[in-house]
Amino acid sequence: MGETQSALFPNYARYPFTFVKGEGSRLWDENGKEYLDLMCGLAVTGLGHAPKQVTERLKEQVDTLWHTSNLFHNPGQEKLAQILVANSCADAVFFCNSGAEANEAAIKIARRYFSKVLEQPERNEIITFDMSFHGRTLATLTATGQQKVQDGFAPLPPGFVYAPYNDAEAVEKLISPRTCAIMLELVQGEGGVNPADPDFVKAVAELCERHGLLLILDEIQTGIGRTGKLFAYEHYGIEPDVITLAKGLGNGFPIGAMLGKEKLRNALSAGSHGTTYGGNYLATATGIATMETILAEDASGKAAAMGDYIMSELKTRLASNPLVGQIRGLGLLIGLGLTVPGADIIKSIHEQGVLVVPAGPNVIRLAPSLLISKEDVDRGLDVICETLAKAAAAAAV
Ligand SMILES: *Cc1c(COP(=O)(O)O)cnc(C)c1O
Repeated sequence: MGETQSALFPNYARYPFTFVKGEGSRLWDENGKEYLDLMCGLAVTGLGHAPKQVTERLKEQVDTLWHTSNLFHNPGQEKLAQILVANSCADAVFFCNSGAEANEAAIKIARRYFSKVLEQPERNEIITFDMSFHGRTLATLTATGQQKVQDGFAPLPPGFVYAPYNDAEAVEKLISPRTCAIMLELVQGEGGVNPADPDFVKAVAELCERHGLLLILDEIQTGIGRTGKLFAYEHYGIEPDVITLAKGLGNGFPIGAMLGKEKLRNALSAGSHGTTYGGNYLATATGIATMETILAEDASGKAAAMGDYIMSELKTRLASNPLVGQIRGLGLLIGLGLTVPGADIIKSIHEQGVLVVPAGPNVIRLAPSLLISKEDVDRGLDVICETLAKAAAAAAV
């Protein structure tokens, strides 16, 4: 191997920054330069970097016990599951290590519920949506309605069909005697920050009810306060059968969860599914501290208020900017649609010490800490709006 060559696979296109320290909405690079973080490691560090309430619990747990395996009882899993169940419409929880694994568990429980509990193994097809994102494992990249995510990985597992987003009639046409579930993001995160229409969500929930399908909500990006409610489904007046979580749940410590309604409990009988690390002591200590802090500080309510403020500021300040298209989102998951490719604009915003992230080629995504201060938000908005004004002026010459 060449000495100057990286020993990593080149599967990530990385920005030219190396961060060495974080606190709240601040990051510092190896030269001591400070950055304002408006992306939270892809909607993960909802309480900001290194929040005291969480780091203290994690440090305590590091000194006590890390891992025993899922062959033994685990009080941290029980406690975190109780918190999630008490604060959602779900009744039972399975812990894993990532979003893709949570969605794998959701796909598996849907198939197994129909094959083993209802004894209808022919019903194994799941309807998902164009421009969705559900993960990078073989089943979840197949569930993902984006060609670029599937490219080169054939043969893909069967059992997935795709509907256009926000089109309930198209969903209805895809329902057949083989359908077992509909899998949906209430705001498509990676697909461009596309919120679902309330009428569409109601219609999909109704279709599930009428046809006996499971409604699986992928809340991996929208959950844990991100959209201004603890779970995005609370905005829509519906109840899913399955919820998947990951990103915000451990504030950066790897943990995922699949939550399900009571009728699904026995679909995952002993030995039917599992993972070595899922819900280990470090992960659940972090998850418990994160959830308790989010609930105690009403981080969801704060996200709702700050999200409204950012949205109205962006709409006012960018109203006459010809480079700006639709501004959309829910709570603190905000997409700034551009009429041009966003890469150069994002690069310029980064160079001014503000971290934002694209969601597709033409959308700048904001996903700041749920607890971000108004001063930080105002500074970020100044940089974003001034950069877009300059870019518009340059484009006009
Ligand atoms: C990030 C994400 C995933 C995948 O999570 P990983 O932890 O990267 O496997 C799945 N669904 C949605 C909606 C996501 O945002």
